[in-house]
Amino acid sequence: MVRDNSDNMGQPPKFKVLTRANIEKAPEWNRLSAEIQESVKTVSTVLPFRVNQYVLDELIDWDNAPDDPMFQLTFPQRGMLSDEHYKAMRTLVRNGAEKAEIDETANRIRLQLNPHPAGQLTHNIPTVDGEQLPGVQHKYRETALFFPSAGQTCHAYCTFCFRWAQFVGMNDLKFAAKEASQLRKYLERHPEITDVLITGGDPMVMKAKFFGAIVDEIIKVDSVRTVRIGTKSVAYWPQRFVSDNDADDMLRQFERIASAGKHVAVMGHYNHPVEISTPVAEECVRRIRSTGANIRMQSPIIRHINDDANTWAELWRKGTQLGCIPYYMFVERDTGAQRYFELPLVRCWEIFREAYQRIPGTARTVRGPSMSCFPGKCHVLGITEVGGQKAFILEYLQARDPSLVRQPFFAKYDHAATWYDDLKPLTKADEKFFTYPEPAPTQTVSLTLDREPTFIESN
Ligand SMILES: *Cc1c(COP(=O)(O)O)cnc(C)c1O
Ligand code: SF4
Repeated sequence: MVRDNSDNMGQPPKFKVLTRANIEKAPEWNRLSAEIQESVKTVSTVLPFRVNQYVLDELIDWDNAPDDPMFQLTFPQRGMLSDEHYKAMRTLVRNGAEKAEIDETANRIRLQLNPHPAGQLTHNIPTVDGEQLPGVQHKYRETALFFPSAGQTCHAYCTFCFRWAQFVGMNDLKFAAKEASQLRKYLERHPEITDVLITGGDPMVMKAKFFGAIVDEIIKVDSVRTVRIGTKSVAYWPQRFVSDNDADDMLRQFERIASAGKHVAVMGHYNHPVEISTPVAEECVRRIRSTGANIRMQSPIIRHINDDANTWAELWRKGTQLGCIPYYMFVERDTGAQRYFELPLVRCWEIFREAYQRIPGTARTVRGPSMSCFPGKCHVLGITEVGGQKAFILEYLQARDPSLVRQPFFAKYDHAATWYDDLKPLTKADEKFFTYPEPAPTQTVSLTLDREPTFIESN
C-alpha cells in the first residue's frame, strides 16, 4: 500500500499544495537551516514556488538537502537571483515590507529575466478567420501545441522552468486561454497536422470532464493521428491516475482517444529516476499503459539536478523496465535563474554519450542533447575536427524549414557555449543553418472564455 499522506488512514492521499504562504507548516521545513529558509522565502517572492506533500514526503531526501536533486528541482535557491537582486529583496522581506512593495520589486526583477525565449510569445501563434488563437502554437508542420486554459498550473513547480512567466500573474506575458472548438477548426484547416500536443502548465491538473471536452473535439478530426499529453503529473502527483477521485475517469478519456483510432502518447516529464521509483509512480505507469497509451520520457539536463551520466542511465533503464520510451534530453535555456542551472553544451553531450553507452538498445530510442531554439530543435551530435579546426557536429531534429532537418552541419567549437546563440558557423556552407526568415507579423484579437478555468486548488 502506498504511504498515506492524509490524516485519515486508509483514505486516498489528498492533494495538498505548499507555497511561500504556508511552507512553514510542513514538518520538513524545520530540517532546513535558518539561512536556507530565508533564501527560500526571499527568492520565492520573485520566482514561483509550489510543492506538494507527496514531493516533500516521498521524493526529497531531507538528509541530503539542500543538495538533494528533488530539493533543487522544487525549492528556489539563492543562486537563482543576482546578488544585487537577492539583497534588495532580502531587505524587504527582513523588514516585513508591504505586499505591494514586494510585488513591485519582484516585477521589476522578473522583467530583467528574459521570460519568453525562442519566439514563444509572438512568433508561433496561428490564426483562424483572422482571429489569433493564443492557446495554440504551430511551429513545426506536423505538430500543433495546445495550451488549454484550465491547464496553466502544475502539481508542483520546477525551479528551472522557462514557463514561469505564465504562473506569476503578469497578464501581458501570460499565454491566453483557448477553446477546444477553435483548436478543432484550426486542425480541420491544417490536415498536415498529425500530432496535437496538449501541454501547459500541466493539462493533467484539469478535471477529467474538462479534459473530456477537449477530447470531444479532437477525436472528430480525422487527420489527427496522435494525441500527445505533455505532463509532469506522472512524477509530481502520480495519484492523479491512481487514487484521485476522477483518476479512472481520466483514464477513460485516454481510452476514448484510443477507441477513435488515435495513438495516445503521454510525454512524461521525468527529471530524475527517484520520480519513477516510488510504488505509486510505478502503479501510475501501469495504469496509463493499460489504456493503450504509451509513455515517452523527456527531460532537460540541468545542473544541480541531473548533470550526471548515472542518473540518466538509471532513469532510462528504469523507465524502459516499466515500458516507457526514452524520447528527448533537452538543453534548457537558462532563463530567469541567473545562470544557476547552466551547463556547457560540451558537458551536456558528454553526459548524454556516457549515459547512452550504459543502456541497452531498447532504451536507445532517446535523442539529445537538443536545444529548442528559434529555427528548430538543434541536436548536438558530437565534436570533431574539420580541416584542423575543432567543431561541433549539429543537426536539426525539427525545423521551421523542414528541408533543414537531418542535414549535419558544423559550428566552431566553443568550450563555454551553453546555447545555440553562442555558436558560430564553421564554414560558409554552414551559414544557412544559422539564418532564417523573419516570421510574418500577427494581429492581436482578444478572446473570451465561455467558462472559468478550474485549478486544482479548488478540489
Ligand atoms: C518539441 C516541439 C514539438 C514536438 O517535436 P517532436 O520532435 O515531434 O517531438 C512541437 N512543437 C514545438 C514548438 C516543440 O518545441
Ligand atoms: S511541470 Fe512543466 S510546466 Fe510545470 S513547472 Fe515543471 S517544467 Fe514547468
